[in-house]
Amino acid sequence: MFGKKIHLFSLFGFKVGVDLSWLLLAVLITWSLAAVLFPQRFEGYSQAAYWWMGIAGALGLFGSIIFHEFCHSIVARRFGLPMKGITLFIFGGVAEMEDEPESPKAEFFMAAAGPLSSILLAGIVYLIYTVGTTAGWPGPVTAVLWYLSLLNSILAGFNLIPAFPLDGGRILRSILWRIKGSLRWSTRVASGFGSGFGIFLIVLGIVSFIGGAFVPGIWWFLIGMFIRSASQMSYQRVLTRKALAGEPTSRFMKEDPVTVPPSASVEQLVNDYFYKYHYKMFPVSQDGRLSGCVTAKQVKGLPREQWNQRSVRDVAQPCSDENTVDAHTDAMKALSLMNRTGNSRLMVVDGQRLVGVITLKDMLKFLSLKMDLEEEHD
Ligand SMILES: [Zn+2]
Repeated sequence: MFGKKIHLFSLFGFKVGVDLSWLLLAVLITWSLAAVLFPQRFEGYSQAAYWWMGIAGALGLFGSIIFHEFCHSIVARRFGLPMKGITLFIFGGVAEMEDEPESPKAEFFMAAAGPLSSILLAGIVYLIYTVGTTAGWPGPVTAVLWYLSLLNSILAGFNLIPAFPLDGGRILRSILWRIKGSLRWSTRVASGFGSGFGIFLIVLGIVSFIGGAFVPGIWWFLIGMFIRSASQMSYQRVLTRKALAGEPTSRFMKEDPVTVPPSASVEQLVNDYFYKYHYKMFPVSQDGRLSGCVTAKQVKGLPREQWNQRSVRDVAQPCSDENTVDAHTDAMKALSLMNRTGNSRLMVVDGQRLVGVITLKDMLKFLSLKMDLEEEHD
């Protein structure tokens, strides 16, 4: 959410990390468990015991979400979808897919794996809890077990709500997709449910807040906002994918881009290129040989008094698969590269030869035009 990801460990080739926003959630959960839930439900322990129970509960939540996302990832990998890893953030976890599932079947099993694993975990923990209570384990231990079993049931139940992009919404989409054969239509219906559910939570949040339940009210409100925007974004992504699939990158590029020679000084680069053409990126090339590119960001990193002494060669970035795409590549790939790297401009090459520059702005313009002209009424 806030984009500051901390990598924790790798598990069977999946990178597990937390977003900084998750730490906020961890603190919130520990506090609500230690100060509210445990003292209310299980009376008679010391303040310190409640805090330990709170920390154990938060760690258990962490493990439960990782397990849930991990099961999604394992099934996804079985269906041949490349997975980047698992990231926890303030509203839970995401198993990061690089692509959408290719068939309704793949999507159905991938989505169902999450809630199923949580139900299973809830059952196992409940069993341990029962064994613990009959064997007379210490009260705080069985209390945390009881909470973790409940938590996993809630995790499963909440995720089964058919509101896309929750797991239940994905299951719904896969069934509709199977019946009607249209990914676009089934995404629209499923994300419509998602959007509606989001609005329901927003209203619930406001009503709770007015009724005096401030913290749950804010919480519902934020989760509702999140689900609503995530469902709308997912639908947009499917539309984009459909519009761009099969189109080569070369179709969207500007041909014969302005290039800078590596020998030019940074001063010249600023005055004769940035200020003249107003582009944010220039390929660096001499006699048809492309050596890299230079952006405003690299110039900004250089003190003003050095502009005269340094050449473009010194500050340029070499060509890499982060800033260069092949002209024949699917345009969707170029778009996801922009998404992933944050580079809104890429050099388009044919072999070693520079043939153009592609920008996010041009692609979006094409998209909105295409959607406008070819709007399907289904
Ligand atoms: Zn899930």
